[in-house]
Amino acid sequence: MIFIPLPCQRETMADTSSTQPVFRFAPSPNGLLHLGHALSAILNHDMAKASGGRFLLRIEDIDRTRCHPQFEAAISSDLAWLGLEWEQPVRRQSDHLDLYASALQRLNDMGLVYPSVLSRGEIKAAVADAEARGNAWPRDPDGAPLYPERERDLGADARNAIVAGDKPHAWRLDMKKAVLAAGAPPLTWQETGSGPDGETGLITADPAAWGDIILSRSDAPSSYHLSVIVDDALQGITHVVRGRDLYHATAVHRLLQRLLDLPEPVYHHHRLLLGADGRKLSKSNRDTGISAFREAGRSPADIRALVL
Ligand code: GLU
Repeated sequence: MIFIPLPCQRETMADTSSTQPVFRFAPSPNGLLHLGHALSAILNHDMAKASGGRFLLRIEDIDRTRCHPQFEAAISSDLAWLGLEWEQPVRRQSDHLDLYASALQRLNDMGLVYPSVLSRGEIKAAVADAEARGNAWPRDPDGAPLYPERERDLGADARNAIVAGDKPHAWRLDMKKAVLAAGAPPLTWQETGSGPDGETGLITADPAAWGDIILSRSDAPSSYHLSVIVDDALQGITHVVRGRDLYHATAVHRLLQRLLDLPEPVYHHHRLLLGADGRKLSKSNRDTGISAFREAGRSPADIRALVL
């Protein structure tokens, strides 16, 4: 694995008075954009414009099984129809897998990752088994059970055997060690939007709530968490504006930024738009897709009025 140095900077809050603000909209091309994406993209675009900043588009297509070029084309056409302009070239994560591999290698060199083999089904079975015996199993902020950590303390030989073996393996962060390695001062971030319970201002990050997160898997060479922090740093993103569903993930991003000595952006989490059923909008529901509104004769101004 080639080591590519990532930009290093002291960990300080982005100071927009001396730096040109840089915003990004970072969709995954695994479906059509819906009104919630329109809100995110418009907010990023408008905040960049209002602050004399830059607006970038980043295609987060790490998961090759779910991402398709036709969705990437649809993203561009929907955003252009909305009247948004972004810088070229557009960064596509699948073009930068070597960088995410380097970041993972750095964490490996620090002794903070381990190869794991339990499949989703095996994790589910382990959790069901523990719960059947009356032991509550810890869940992450999204409600998913934490990883059983079975391979965490294996020695070098056993780890090498996993890596060389036939069973697909994923690389996971040893969360307890990683939090220790992050050291003091406590991890925080500056929130200019708000969290699910109205949290705003200086937020204390709790990455441990996520357990041993995946950083790369056999069918997707990097995780969302790893590639997002590498790209935000490399693209000089000063302001991350995104939906509130990613509020708690920010704790993981702050931890990885500290470990890899990457700069800290300001975070702004915005409200989520809900469908008629009261649930978060989803890419699989075509009715709330931006293109459905366009086809029904609505204008970009109508969309702005609907979401802002
Ligand atoms: N790619 C993520 C998504 O489509 C957004 C990532 C981010 O804004 O940090 O939900």
